[in-house]
Amino acid sequence: MSQSERESLEQRLAQIRQTLPSTVRLIAVTKQVSVELIRLAYALGLRDFAESRIQEAAAKQAELSDWTDVNWHLIGHLQTNKASKALERFQWIHSLDSLKLAQRLNQLAAPQQQKPQLCLQVKLRPDPDKFGWTAAELLAALPDLEQCQALNIVGLMTIPPNGLPPAETAAIFEQTRALAQQIQQQSSLTISELSMGMSGDYPLAIQSGATMIRLGRVLFGNRSSLSL
Ligand SMILES: *Cc1c(COP(=O)(O)O)cnc(C)c1O
Repeated sequence: MSQSERESLEQRLAQIRQTLPSTVRLIAVTKQVSVELIRLAYALGLRDFAESRIQEAAAKQAELSDWTDVNWHLIGHLQTNKASKALERFQWIHSLDSLKLAQRLNQLAAPQQQKPQLCLQVKLRPDPDKFGWTAAELLAALPDLEQCQALNIVGLMTIPPNGLPPAETAAIFEQTRALAQQIQQQSSLTISELSMGMSGDYPLAIQSGATMIRLGRVLFGNRSSLSL
């Protein structure tokens, strides 16, 4: 960890915290981030960390096994055959993106176990690069999701397509919030969490009622360019 990496994390985190409502949980996205820098984030008070891949998460969790008071969040696509690993390793899974996966997790999650909190990943604009339910698919699947009684489905997660004008991104966040309300009206699910907002758009997400923002680059710098 260079001196400048250390200083920029401290400064950026201080700046973000100044504008962050107390109701919004700040999740540090640590994919491609060194364990040393992650430890600094912890020392600065962060307790929520997110990874996209189980394998990368497992390696870091092994190195950080002295931590007992953090939440690990899975934010990348989860293959059904890795569902049991995800149940063991994460307190939150934001990427519940199919009925097949929900049913598999439900089979594996015994009612008495510690179970992750789950967000349904929704995709409100066509985007071939991303997983997620359309609104129509999700509303149609509600009766089946209600049957998954071992699951703690508590929120919606969304990732707007890259490069949209801010007004369009804001519209997607507003529609995600409206969809959460609609699900509550039409089912027995309680959808109180909205996981939306990344480095490029988190102020808009907060305006639209995000309860969790997932920040990588704005905290840790641009990893892909650093690793070139
Ligand atoms: C990488 C990633 C983030 C963080 O993105 P930044 O632009 O670096 O803040 C957030 N959410 C998901 C699902 C991601 O894959």
